[in-house]
Amino acid sequence: MIITDGVLKNTARVLEYMLRHPLTTRAQIVKDTGLTPAAVSNTMNLLVQKKIISETGSEVRGAPGSGRSQKQIAFQPDFGFFGGLEINMSGLHLAITNAAGSVQYAAEIPLKQLDLSRISHEICTLIEDSIQKSGVPALKGFGIAVPGHLDQESGRILTNNPNWKHFSLGEIQKNFQFPMWAHNNIECMALGQYLNSKQQAPTRFAYLHIGPGVYCSFFNSNKLGDVKNFYLGEIGHMVVERDGTLCECGKKGCLQTYVSETWLLKKARIAHTANPSSYLASLCPDSEKLTLDHILDAAIAGDGFVSRMLDDAIEYLAISMANMFLTHEIEQIYLNSRLFQQEELKQKLQEKIFPQLEFLSVSHGLKLSVLPFDSCRGAAAGAMLASYSYFIKHPELLFTLELANG
Ligand SMILES: [Zn+2]
Repeated sequence: MIITDGVLKNTARVLEYMLRHPLTTRAQIVKDTGLTPAAVSNTMNLLVQKKIISETGSEVRGAPGSGRSQKQIAFQPDFGFFGGLEINMSGLHLAITNAAGSVQYAAEIPLKQLDLSRISHEICTLIEDSIQKSGVPALKGFGIAVPGHLDQESGRILTNNPNWKHFSLGEIQKNFQFPMWAHNNIECMALGQYLNSKQQAPTRFAYLHIGPGVYCSFFNSNKLGDVKNFYLGEIGHMVVERDGTLCECGKKGCLQTYVSETWLLKKARIAHTANPSSYLASLCPDSEKLTLDHILDAAIAGDGFVSRMLDDAIEYLAISMANMFLTHEIEQIYLNSRLFQQEELKQKLQEKIFPQLEFLSVSHGLKLSVLPFDSCRGAAAGAMLASYSYFIKHPELLFTLELANG
Protein backbone atom coordinates (compact mmCIF):
# COMPACT_ATOMS: atom_id res chain seq x y z
CA MET A 1 0.00 0.00 0.00
CA ILE A 2 1.31 3.45 -0.90
CA ILE A 3 1.47 5.72 2.12
CA THR A 4 -0.09 8.96 0.86
CA ASP A 5 -0.87 12.05 2.93
CA GLY A 6 -4.50 10.90 2.95
CA VAL A 7 -3.53 7.53 4.44
CA LEU A 8 -1.44 9.26 7.13
CA LYS A 9 -4.29 11.63 7.96
CA ASN A 10 -6.77 8.75 8.32
CA THR A 11 -4.27 6.77 10.38
CA ALA A 12 -3.85 9.70 12.79
CA ARG A 13 -7.62 10.18 13.04
CA VAL A 14 -8.31 6.50 13.77
CA LEU A 15 -5.45 6.27 16.29
CA GLU A 16 -6.65 9.38 18.12
CA TYR A 17 -10.08 7.76 18.35
CA MET A 18 -8.66 4.45 19.52
CA LEU A 19 -6.45 5.98 22.20
CA ARG A 20 -9.65 7.44 23.66
CA HIS A 21 -11.73 4.31 22.94
CA PRO A 22 -9.38 1.32 23.26
CA LEU A 23 -12.23 -1.16 22.69
CA THR A 24 -14.53 -0.44 19.77
CA THR A 25 -15.86 -1.62 16.38
CA ARG A 26 -15.30 -0.49 12.79
CA ALA A 27 -18.88 0.77 12.52
CA GLN A 28 -18.47 2.83 15.68
CA ILE A 29 -15.31 4.43 14.30
CA VAL A 30 -17.10 5.24 11.02
CA LYS A 31 -19.95 6.80 12.97
CA ASP A 32 -17.84 8.85 15.37
CA THR A 33 -14.99 10.00 13.10
CA GLY A 34 -17.00 10.78 9.97
CA LEU A 35 -14.48 8.81 7.83
CA THR A 36 -15.92 6.61 5.06
CA PRO A 37 -16.30 2.85 5.72
CA ALA A 38 -13.68 2.19 3.00
CA ALA A 39 -11.18 4.59 4.57
CA VAL A 40 -11.71 3.03 8.00
CA SER A 41 -11.33 -0.48 6.60
CA ASN A 42 -8.08 0.36 4.81
CA THR A 43 -6.67 2.06 7.88
CA MET A 44 -7.69 -0.79 10.17
CA ASN A 45 -6.03 -3.33 7.88
CA LEU A 46 -2.83 -1.32 8.02
CA LEU A 47 -3.00 -1.06 11.82
CA VAL A 48 -3.69 -4.78 12.19
CA GLN A 49 -0.60 -5.48 10.04
CA LYS A 50 1.45 -3.20 12.29
CA LYS A 51 0.04 -5.03 15.35
CA ILE A 52 -1.22 -1.75 16.81
CA ILE A 53 -4.76 -3.10 16.92
CA SER A 54 -6.29 -6.56 16.81
CA GLU A 55 -9.65 -8.26 16.74
CA THR A 56 -10.55 -9.59 20.18
CA GLY A 57 -12.68 -12.44 18.87
CA SER A 58 -15.77 -11.02 20.61
CA GLU A 59 -18.75 -9.68 18.72
CA VAL A 60 -20.85 -6.67 19.64
CA ARG A 61 -24.57 -6.85 18.83
CA GLY A 62 -26.60 -3.92 17.59
CA ALA A 63 -23.57 -1.86 16.64
CA PRO A 64 -24.33 1.28 14.62
CA GLY A 65 -24.32 1.17 10.83
CA SER A 66 -25.78 -2.32 10.48
CA GLY A 67 -28.14 -4.68 12.21
CA ARG A 68 -25.48 -7.39 12.20
CA SER A 69 -23.02 -8.15 14.95
CA GLN A 70 -19.70 -6.35 14.67
CA LYS A 71 -16.27 -7.67 15.52
CA GLN A 72 -14.72 -5.96 18.50
CA ILE A 73 -11.38 -4.26 17.91
CA ALA A 74 -8.83 -3.52 20.62
CA PHE A 75 -5.90 -1.14 20.77
CA GLN A 76 -2.79 -3.13 21.70
CA PRO A 77 -1.26 -1.48 24.77
CA ASP A 78 1.98 -3.47 24.44
CA PHE A 79 2.56 -2.36 20.86
CA GLY A 80 5.32 -0.18 22.24
CA PHE A 81 6.53 1.81 25.23
CA PHE A 82 6.92 5.54 25.72
CA GLY A 83 8.91 7.54 28.22
CA GLY A 84 7.97 10.79 29.95
CA LEU A 85 9.72 13.20 32.25
CA GLU A 86 8.44 16.17 34.20
CA ILE A 87 10.78 18.87 35.42
CA ASN A 88 9.38 20.91 38.29
CA MET A 89 10.32 22.60 41.57
CA SER A 90 10.33 19.27 43.39
CA GLY A 91 12.81 17.70 40.96
CA LEU A 92 12.78 15.25 38.05
CA HIS A 93 9.94 12.75 37.73
CA LEU A 94 10.13 9.97 35.16
CA ALA A 95 7.56 7.46 33.92
CA ILE A 96 7.65 4.68 31.34
CA THR A 97 4.21 3.74 30.05
CA ASN A 98 2.80 1.29 27.57
CA ALA A 99 1.16 2.61 24.41
CA ALA A 100 -2.14 3.02 26.26
CA GLY A 101 -0.58 5.29 28.89
CA SER A 102 -0.46 2.84 31.78
CA VAL A 103 2.62 3.47 33.95
CA GLN A 104 5.05 0.50 33.95
CA TYR A 105 7.94 2.11 35.79
CA ALA A 106 8.46 5.37 37.71
CA ALA A 107 11.44 7.10 39.28
CA GLU A 108 12.28 10.53 40.67
CA ILE A 109 15.21 12.64 41.83
CA PRO A 110 14.59 15.47 44.32
CA LEU A 111 15.68 18.94 43.18
CA LYS A 112 18.26 19.31 45.95
CA GLN A 113 20.13 16.23 44.70
CA LEU A 114 20.50 17.65 41.19
CA ASP A 115 23.44 19.55 39.74
CA LEU A 116 21.34 22.12 37.87
CA SER A 117 24.35 23.40 35.90
CA ARG A 118 24.38 19.93 34.27
CA ILE A 119 20.65 19.34 34.15
CA SER A 120 20.62 17.93 30.60
CA HIS A 121 23.27 15.40 31.65
CA GLU A 122 21.29 14.54 34.83
CA ILE A 123 18.20 13.93 32.68
CA CYS A 124 20.10 11.65 30.27
CA THR A 125 21.48 9.59 33.18
CA LEU A 126 18.01 9.20 34.71
CA ILE A 127 16.52 8.12 31.37
CA GLU A 128 19.29 5.58 30.67
CA ASP A 129 19.11 4.20 34.19
CA SER A 130 15.31 3.91 34.08
CA ILE A 131 15.21 2.16 30.71
CA GLN A 132 17.66 -0.38 32.05
CA LYS A 133 15.86 -0.94 35.37
CA SER A 134 12.37 -1.10 33.82
CA GLY A 135 13.41 -3.89 31.45
CA VAL A 136 11.11 -2.60 28.67
CA PRO A 137 12.27 -3.01 25.07
CA ALA A 138 13.37 0.07 23.10
CA LEU A 139 11.15 3.12 23.58
CA LYS A 140 9.12 4.44 20.63
CA GLY A 141 9.50 8.01 21.81
CA PHE A 142 10.02 10.28 24.79
CA GLY A 143 8.17 13.41 25.97
CA ILE A 144 9.43 16.05 28.38
CA ALA A 145 6.90 18.14 30.28
CA VAL A 146 8.65 21.42 31.03
CA PRO A 147 7.79 24.29 33.36
CA GLY A 148 7.13 27.32 31.14
CA HIS A 149 7.33 27.02 27.37
CA LEU A 150 9.83 25.46 25.02
CA ASP A 151 11.54 27.62 22.42
CA GLN A 152 11.17 25.27 19.46
CA GLU A 153 14.22 26.72 17.67
CA SER A 154 16.76 26.62 20.47
CA GLY A 155 15.23 23.67 22.37
CA ARG A 156 15.52 25.70 25.58
CA ILE A 157 12.93 26.52 28.22
CA LEU A 158 11.53 30.06 28.04
CA THR A 159 11.27 30.90 31.73
CA ASN A 160 12.51 33.43 34.23
CA ASN A 161 13.46 30.61 36.62
CA PRO A 162 17.30 30.33 36.58
CA ASN A 163 17.06 26.65 37.64
CA TRP A 164 16.26 25.59 34.10
CA LYS A 165 18.60 27.78 32.06
CA HIS A 166 20.98 24.90 31.25
CA PHE A 167 18.21 22.63 29.89
CA SER A 168 18.73 21.78 26.22
CA LEU A 169 16.46 19.38 24.35
CA GLY A 170 19.07 19.12 21.56
CA GLU A 171 21.78 18.06 24.03
CA ILE A 172 19.51 15.38 25.49
CA GLN A 173 18.27 14.11 22.11
CA LYS A 174 21.88 13.52 20.94
CA ASN A 175 22.14 10.63 23.42
CA PHE A 176 19.11 8.67 22.24
CA GLN A 177 17.91 6.98 19.06
CA PHE A 178 14.19 7.46 19.77
CA PRO A 179 12.52 10.78 18.92
CA MET A 180 11.98 13.28 21.74
CA TRP A 181 9.51 16.11 22.18
CA ALA A 182 8.96 18.73 24.88
CA HIS A 183 6.02 20.95 25.74
CA ASN A 184 4.58 22.97 28.62
CA ASN A 185 3.84 20.59 31.52
CA ILE A 186 0.22 21.64 32.09
CA GLU A 187 -0.54 21.41 28.37
CA CYS A 188 0.88 17.86 28.52
CA MET A 189 -1.39 17.02 31.48
CA ALA A 190 -4.43 18.35 29.59
CA LEU A 191 -3.46 16.25 26.58
CA GLY A 192 -3.14 13.21 28.87
CA GLN A 193 -6.57 13.96 30.31
CA TYR A 194 -8.04 14.06 26.79
CA LEU A 195 -6.37 10.93 25.42
CA ASN A 196 -6.19 8.75 28.47
CA SER A 197 -8.68 9.35 31.23
CA LYS A 198 -10.84 6.58 32.63
CA GLN A 199 -13.90 8.79 32.61
CA GLN A 200 -13.73 10.18 29.15
CA ALA A 201 -12.84 13.85 28.91
CA PRO A 202 -14.87 16.13 26.63
CA THR A 203 -13.25 17.57 23.48
CA ARG A 204 -13.02 21.02 25.06
CA PHE A 205 -12.25 21.79 28.69
CA ALA A 206 -10.08 23.86 31.00
CA TYR A 207 -7.29 22.20 32.96
CA LEU A 208 -6.27 24.39 35.87
CA HIS A 209 -3.11 23.55 37.75
CA ILE A 210 -2.31 25.11 41.11
CA GLY A 211 1.13 24.27 42.45
CA PRO A 212 3.98 26.67 43.23
CA GLY A 213 2.45 28.72 40.38
CA VAL A 214 -0.91 28.80 38.60
CA TYR A 215 -1.50 27.93 34.94
CA CYS A 216 -4.54 26.92 32.92
CA SER A 217 -4.71 25.00 29.64
CA PHE A 218 -7.79 25.79 27.57
CA PHE A 219 -7.90 22.50 25.73
CA ASN A 220 -9.58 22.09 22.35
CA SER A 221 -9.14 18.80 20.48
CA ASN A 222 -9.74 20.56 17.15
CA LYS A 223 -6.55 22.51 17.76
CA LEU A 224 -4.42 19.62 18.99
CA GLY A 225 -0.76 20.48 18.92
CA ASP A 226 -1.25 24.10 17.83
CA VAL A 227 1.40 26.47 19.07
CA LYS A 228 -0.57 28.93 21.13
CA ASN A 229 0.18 32.41 22.32
CA PHE A 230 2.37 31.91 25.34
CA TYR A 231 0.37 34.38 27.44
CA LEU A 232 -2.87 32.37 27.13
CA GLY A 233 -3.21 30.33 30.30
CA GLU A 234 -1.24 32.62 32.61
CA ILE A 235 -4.33 33.18 34.71
CA GLY A 236 -2.23 33.30 37.88
CA HIS A 237 -1.57 36.91 36.92
CA MET A 238 -5.23 37.80 36.47
CA VAL A 239 -5.99 40.64 38.90
CA VAL A 240 -8.75 39.65 41.33
CA GLU A 241 -8.29 42.38 43.99
CA ARG A 242 -7.51 45.93 42.94
CA ASP A 243 -5.53 46.84 46.04
CA GLY A 244 -4.22 43.38 46.79
CA THR A 245 -0.74 42.08 47.53
CA LEU A 246 2.12 43.13 45.23
CA CYS A 247 2.89 40.22 42.89
CA GLU A 248 6.34 39.46 41.45
CA CYS A 249 4.99 40.53 38.03
CA GLY A 250 4.70 44.10 39.33
CA LYS A 251 0.89 44.19 39.55
CA LYS A 252 -1.22 44.09 42.69
CA GLY A 253 -3.79 41.46 43.65
CA CYS A 254 -2.96 38.71 41.11
CA LEU A 255 -4.84 35.41 41.63
CA GLN A 256 -1.63 33.55 42.40
CA THR A 257 -0.87 35.78 45.39
CA TYR A 258 -3.98 34.17 46.97
CA VAL A 259 -3.92 30.54 45.81
CA SER A 260 -0.44 29.43 44.74
CA GLU A 261 1.47 27.19 47.15
CA THR A 262 4.41 29.61 47.02
CA TRP A 263 2.30 32.53 48.23
CA LEU A 264 0.32 30.54 50.81
CA LEU A 265 3.61 29.44 52.35
CA LYS A 266 5.08 32.94 52.14
CA LYS A 267 2.09 34.40 54.02
CA ALA A 268 2.00 31.53 56.53
CA ARG A 269 5.69 32.09 57.36
CA ILE A 270 5.10 35.77 58.01
CA ALA A 271 2.12 34.94 60.28
CA HIS A 272 4.17 32.25 62.03
CA THR A 273 6.96 34.72 62.88
CA ALA A 274 4.48 37.41 63.95
CA ASN A 275 2.55 35.05 66.22
CA PRO A 276 4.79 32.31 67.64
CA SER A 277 2.01 31.09 69.97
CA SER A 278 -0.41 30.29 67.10
CA TYR A 279 -1.56 26.75 66.36
CA LEU A 280 0.34 26.92 63.06
CA ALA A 281 3.57 27.73 64.92
CA SER A 282 2.98 24.85 67.33
CA LEU A 283 2.93 22.43 64.38
CA CYS A 284 6.39 23.43 63.18
CA PRO A 285 8.65 25.55 65.37
CA ASP A 286 10.88 26.63 62.46
CA SER A 287 8.86 28.89 60.12
CA GLU A 288 11.24 28.14 57.23
CA LYS A 289 10.30 24.46 57.44
CA LEU A 290 6.54 25.05 57.08
CA THR A 291 4.92 22.95 54.35
CA LEU A 292 1.52 22.87 52.68
CA ASP A 293 0.60 19.94 54.95
CA HIS A 294 1.13 22.14 58.04
CA ILE A 295 -1.18 24.74 56.50
CA LEU A 296 -3.85 22.11 55.82
CA ASP A 297 -3.53 20.68 59.34
CA ALA A 298 -3.82 24.17 60.83
CA ALA A 299 -6.96 24.77 58.74
CA ILE A 300 -8.60 21.60 60.06
CA ALA A 301 -7.77 22.66 63.64
CA GLY A 302 -9.38 26.08 62.98
CA ASP A 303 -6.25 28.27 63.14
CA GLY A 304 -7.68 31.79 62.63
CA PHE A 305 -5.05 33.19 60.27
CA VAL A 306 -4.86 30.07 58.11
CA SER A 307 -8.66 29.78 57.88
CA ARG A 308 -9.00 33.40 56.71
CA MET A 309 -6.16 32.93 54.23
CA LEU A 310 -7.81 29.84 52.72
CA ASP A 311 -11.25 31.49 52.69
CA ASP A 312 -9.74 34.31 50.60
CA ALA A 313 -8.05 31.75 48.32
CA ILE A 314 -11.38 29.98 47.73
CA GLU A 315 -13.28 33.24 47.21
CA TYR A 316 -10.93 34.57 44.53
CA LEU A 317 -10.46 31.20 42.86
CA ALA A 318 -14.23 30.69 42.66
CA ILE A 319 -14.68 34.10 41.00
CA SER A 320 -11.93 33.27 38.50
CA MET A 321 -13.37 29.83 37.71
CA ALA A 322 -16.92 31.13 37.25
CA ASN A 323 -15.48 33.74 34.88
CA MET A 324 -13.71 30.97 32.93
CA PHE A 325 -17.06 29.30 32.26
CA LEU A 326 -18.46 32.64 31.06
CA THR A 327 -15.58 33.47 28.74
CA HIS A 328 -14.62 30.08 27.23
CA GLU A 329 -16.57 27.45 25.36
CA ILE A 330 -16.16 24.83 28.08
CA GLU A 331 -18.48 22.79 30.27
CA GLN A 332 -15.83 21.21 32.44
CA ILE A 333 -12.88 22.42 34.49
CA TYR A 334 -10.35 19.91 35.79
CA LEU A 335 -8.51 21.14 38.86
CA ASN A 336 -5.11 19.66 39.66
CA SER A 337 -4.13 20.94 43.09
CA ARG A 338 -2.79 19.45 46.29
CA LEU A 339 -4.65 22.07 48.32
CA PHE A 340 -8.09 20.95 47.17
CA GLN A 341 -7.53 17.27 47.98
CA GLN A 342 -9.08 18.16 51.31
CA GLU A 343 -12.81 17.40 51.04
CA GLU A 344 -13.97 20.41 53.05
CA LEU A 345 -12.03 22.90 50.91
CA LYS A 346 -13.25 21.22 47.72
CA GLN A 347 -16.83 21.47 48.95
CA LYS A 348 -16.45 25.15 49.83
CA LEU A 349 -15.02 25.87 46.39
CA GLN A 350 -17.97 24.15 44.64
CA GLU A 351 -20.41 26.10 46.81
CA LYS A 352 -18.76 29.39 45.82
CA ILE A 353 -18.52 28.76 42.06
CA PHE A 354 -21.90 27.45 41.00
CA PRO A 355 -24.27 29.99 42.60
CA GLN A 356 -22.49 32.59 40.40
CA LEU A 357 -23.73 30.70 37.33
CA GLU A 358 -27.30 29.91 38.36
CA PHE A 359 -28.65 32.69 36.14
CA LEU A 360 -27.57 30.63 33.11
CA SER A 361 -30.12 28.17 31.71
CA VAL A 362 -27.30 25.66 31.08
CA SER A 363 -25.66 25.96 34.51
CA HIS A 364 -26.66 22.41 35.52
CA GLY A 365 -24.35 21.00 32.80
CA LEU A 366 -21.22 22.78 34.08
CA LYS A 367 -18.78 20.64 36.03
CA LEU A 368 -15.72 20.91 38.23
CA SER A 369 -13.59 17.77 38.70
CA VAL A 370 -10.83 17.85 41.29
CA LEU A 371 -8.22 15.32 40.16
CA PRO A 372 -6.57 13.04 42.73
CA PHE A 373 -3.05 14.22 43.52
CA ASP A 374 -0.40 12.12 41.81
CA SER A 375 3.28 13.16 41.82
CA CYS A 376 3.78 11.01 38.70
CA ARG A 377 1.00 12.77 36.72
CA GLY A 378 3.31 15.18 34.88
CA ALA A 379 5.76 12.42 33.93
CA ALA A 380 2.96 10.15 32.65
CA ALA A 381 1.65 13.20 30.75
CA GLY A 382 5.10 13.56 29.17
CA ALA A 383 4.77 9.97 27.93
CA MET A 384 1.30 10.86 26.54
CA LEU A 385 2.94 13.77 24.68
CA ALA A 386 5.31 11.22 23.13
CA SER A 387 2.45 8.85 22.31
CA TYR A 388 0.43 11.72 20.78
CA SER A 389 3.46 12.94 18.79
CA TYR A 390 4.20 9.45 17.52
CA PHE A 391 0.70 8.20 16.67
CA ILE A 392 -1.22 11.38 15.84
CA LYS A 393 1.11 14.24 14.97
CA HIS A 394 3.74 12.20 13.11
CA PRO A 395 2.03 8.97 12.00
CA GLU A 396 4.69 8.77 9.26
CA LEU A 397 7.05 7.56 12.02
CA LEU A 398 5.10 4.29 12.01
CA PHE A 399 6.45 3.73 8.52
CA THR A 400 9.74 5.66 8.32
CA LEU A 401 11.24 4.33 11.56
CA GLU A 402 10.55 0.84 10.37
CA LEU A 403 12.47 1.54 7.12
CA ALA A 404 15.33 3.15 9.08
CA ASN A 405 15.57 0.12 11.35
CA GLY A 406 15.87 -2.07 8.25
ZN1 LIG B 1 1.14 38.83 38.91
